[in-house]
Amino acid sequence: MKYIILFFFFICSITLSYTQEICGTEHFITSEKGKNFYVQLNEYIQKEFPSVKSNKTTTVIPLVFHIVYNAPQQNIHDSVIYRQLDILNNDFQRKNADTNNTPSAFKSVSGALDVEFCLAKQTPNGQSTTGILRVQTATTSFASPVNYAVPDPIKRTNMGGSDSWNTEKYINIWICNLTGSTAYTAPKGNFLPGDDGIVCHYNHIGLTNGYPYNKGRSIVHEMGHYFGLKHIWGDDNGTCAGTDFINDTPNQANYSTNCPSFPLVDACSPNSPGVMFMNYMDYSEDACRNMFTQGQVNYMIAGMNFTIPNIHNPTTCSFPTEISEKHFSQIVSFYPNPFSDNLLVSFSAPLQNGTLRIKDLNGKTVHLLQYITADSEKINTSLLTEGIYFLEIFDENFYSIKKLIKIK
Ligand SMILES: [Zn+2]
Repeated sequence: MKYIILFFFFICSITLSYTQEICGTEHFITSEKGKNFYVQLNEYIQKEFPSVKSNKTTTVIPLVFHIVYNAPQQNIHDSVIYRQLDILNNDFQRKNADTNNTPSAFKSVSGALDVEFCLAKQTPNGQSTTGILRVQTATTSFASPVNYAVPDPIKRTNMGGSDSWNTEKYINIWICNLTGSTAYTAPKGNFLPGDDGIVCHYNHIGLTNGYPYNKGRSIVHEMGHYFGLKHIWGDDNGTCAGTDFINDTPNQANYSTNCPSFPLVDACSPNSPGVMFMNYMDYSEDACRNMFTQGQVNYMIAGMNFTIPNIHNPTTCSFPTEISEKHFSQIVSFYPNPFSDNLLVSFSAPLQNGTLRIKDLNGKTVHLLQYITADSEKINTSLLTEGIYFLEIFDENFYSIKKLIKIK
């Protein structure tokens, strides 16, 4: 009997740890309110977006991160947030280093959204901020509310969380010790007023050891939901009747797990190229997801216009500036500094699939190198105008950002 009880405990433990890894958004978007939202969104799209409209200018979106921590390891470092910001921008703009992993059968439908996420530099009251709030809490863990009509404690200071900032003007992201799911959200308007935003477990932000969701793509997936996307399998529990409303994603029975080999076929897409398990809106592991489709991008443009039409605000935006990282063993040196027509960047150890980005004072990327595996890079900077730049460099093991000045 004892062994039977132990066996059931074992099975329950497996179920619980498995549930922990799944996005907690599904029950919001399949609720009555969620279904009504998608009816309204699709009516809006058919009326306002009979053909695809591209954004005339890059939509700049201020983010505010609320790090709500109880134990010290939950109070994650600024560099983790910076790296998450970079992952968001790369993945949405399709500048991610692993686009070459998209199978050729799906490359032609891949898409980029012209959006730039930044950190808020102004509070709703106009005071300056880094866009990263740190709130200590007595609450040891948080879970998503049972439905959209229930206040969400993580988003309320008087319930142990941190009050949201104006959800018309910012996208709020809460980081905490989350139980029951890796992360959750819903398109804006699907929670109680002020509760809109994204919640994510502290171990699934940026590059982490939270395998298999360890490359910052939980937030990419949730941001897709926030802009109106559904899961790629249509949340229909394995039937082929549901839809994600996107024309260029294959019909898919259920979510994918682990890292499938291409092609992966199922009951709804029985022939090659099969289902698009490498889409950000699936559940395959972070290392195996690398694309949105153009159809999803069009849908997100419409979704953003429908739910957050006033979010674009470059004047309240800042980008990571200089940080020093004493806890990383990597040492980066720059020569000469200030620099002129050339800049030599050297690393004390070769980078592992590194990224180097030069940004101007407005956060705009003016030079980008990816897949760096060398221990130095010589950069031709002759085309840059004189002034201040930020060099952001990171790989799987470290993050660095340094202010440098270009002279004649
Ligand atoms: Zn999801």
